[in-house]
Amino acid sequence: VIDVRNVSKSYGDFKVLSDCNLSVNSGEVVVVCGPSGSGKSTLIKCLNGLEAVHDGFISIAGFNLTDQHADLPSVRRTVGMVFQNFELFPHLSVLRNITIAQEKVMRRTREEATDKALALLERVGLTTQKDKYPSQLSGGQQQRIAIARALAMDPQVMLFDEPTSALDPEMIGEVLDVMVELARAGMTMVCVTHEMGFAKSVADRIVFMDKGEIVDDVAKNDFFGGNASSRAQTFLRKVI
Ligand code: ATP
Ligand code: MG
Repeated sequence: VIDVRNVSKSYGDFKVLSDCNLSVNSGEVVVVCGPSGSGKSTLIKCLNGLEAVHDGFISIAGFNLTDQHADLPSVRRTVGMVFQNFELFPHLSVLRNITIAQEKVMRRTREEATDKALALLERVGLTTQKDKYPSQLSGGQQQRIAIARALAMDPQVMLFDEPTSALDPEMIGEVLDVMVELARAGMTMVCVTHEMGFAKSVADRIVFMDKGEIVDDVAKNDFFGGNASSRAQTFLRKVI
């Protein structure tokens, strides 16, 4: 579903991505980790066309993102994205946050969109919050709504960029639980996260980035079993 080949990107003289290669099969869960500034967010944003690449090739869910004429609105509909800071629409109720794009982009009726939203709210355990506004919810609740909103588009792939790093510790678990359930349901996921417990329980592969390079791309058991690069092992000692 995802194919990244020889991708490089620079900001002026600064190489933020350096000859990155990554391939993700349908149903795989890949966790991306690495030090601050290593290019993780940039890589994720390149995967749904939020950032352009300067060199190399990216295809995702059948879209060639390196084609100038790539249909980016369709890409963003097919590839769900969840950010660190939730980014819900503050002036819309929880329910409306989840229905609006279904109606405007997917052309579903209000009734279809509402049924779908209620099913997703049930899945993330927030049915009772449907008429509240984002500011009335905790961070963990907001992030679960953001996940439900992304899922409402029936994405083929979900991208997560540090979805729990802005949360108080007691709320991290409730968001990770939703992500674990999604992984077990077979969703293809690329997750930038330093939650190694999550990685150990559901990741198929771990990608470790440093200074714009993909240094490791290995099976979970190899990564945690001592077969990661020395740079990754040094990093692991700091985060665990
Ligand atoms: P973090 O763990 O802190 O989120 P990251 O691995 O996600 O880090 P990126 O956000 O991808 O790292 O950034 C990689 C590098 O690129 C950083 O050094 C950052 O300062 C630089 N960078 C990112 N965006 C820009 C930009 N628009 N212009 C110039 N430099 C940028
Ligand atoms: Mg980042």
